[in-house]
Amino acid sequence: MKSKLIICVRSYLLWIMISASMLIITAPVAADKPAPLPNIKILALGGTIAGAAPSPMETKEYKPGVLDISTLIRSVPGLDRIADISGEQLANINSTNMTNEITIMLANRVNELLLKEGTDGIVITHGTDTLEETAYFLNLVVKSDKPVVVVGSMRPATAVSADGPLNLYNAVVLASHKAARGKGVLVALNEKIHGARDVTKTNTTNVDTFKGSDFGCLGYILDGKVFFYQTTVRRHTTNTEFNIDGLKTLPRVEIIYGHGHGNRDLVDAAVKAGAAGIVHAGSGDGSVFSITKEGLLDARGKGVVVVRSSRVGSGVVTHTAEDGIKGFVTADTLNPQKARILLMLSLTRTSDIKEIQRIFDEY
Ligand code: ASP
Repeated sequence: MKSKLIICVRSYLLWIMISASMLIITAPVAADKPAPLPNIKILALGGTIAGAAPSPMETKEYKPGVLDISTLIRSVPGLDRIADISGEQLANINSTNMTNEITIMLANRVNELLLKEGTDGIVITHGTDTLEETAYFLNLVVKSDKPVVVVGSMRPATAVSADGPLNLYNAVVLASHKAARGKGVLVALNEKIHGARDVTKTNTTNVDTFKGSDFGCLGYILDGKVFFYQTTVRRHTTNTEFNIDGLKTLPRVEIIYGHGHGNRDLVDAAVKAGAAGIVHAGSGDGSVFSITKEGLLDARGKGVVVVRSSRVGSGVVTHTAEDGIKGFVTADTLNPQKARILLMLSLTRTSDIKEIQRIFDEY
């Protein structure tokens, strides 16, 4: 009788254990919620990426800045699978006609959006002609670590083999990626990632036009994957002293291109027109034709800040004892158009030559 009772209790316990384990196995498992997609804002400014030609074979004769941002977004398959996208049309221009006022408006909008919790990254569609200037300006005034990626294309949207849709897709991939945070403003074209400080347009028409001068590209974007290999050590974004709050325009800075058989006429004209700064694109190591140099010295005497840069396209413009005596600033490795951007921003803070030279040495 006793052994029967023991068997009964054992079977009952076994039944409870099996039932419990069945319960564990069959209990509904809470399904993993898919991670929310990053919120990416696309700010559109026009350029060839929004350009149109009468026929698909016309890749050089077209009108930049025709299509609007919603048309561009629709032209990229799968964009909605990588990010929550919204577009905003800030302008629709040929970037050759970029102005300081549009650049400031864009930078303010970028700062305003990135301050918000809901924006994870920004992509800016831009014409390629002055893209490097806008990207460098943003690199110096954006106050956020969140990714900001500037993108364009070399062929209009209507072209056979248009490069815009893949460039835009890659730019959104990059702006959505954690690895793009804190690297300064980035440029994404032709599957390459560039840093805003060093990138420059090197070919008038070819899709592989953007290069990092002496320093190469920072990485690649391939089939939705981001590969970084290096980053700039120069100050940018959250680590700069520049602030555009309340700024309506920028000090006037002209670029004067040096050449053999030079003169001083354009230097004098720039001073007369009210330039606060002159960037001289000199030969070799930023060298200046003797008569032009006299003009620049007189400009210095009138308080105009003179920066010696080089038309060569790579290498440092070295700071000499003569620069110290004459009060010339040297542009480091910045090309003339980038030196103009940095000088304009420097002049919003100071006209002290030593301070401006420090800025050129640090940025
Ligand atoms: N002229 C055009 C622009 O800069 C060239 C381009 O976008 O590629 O707007």
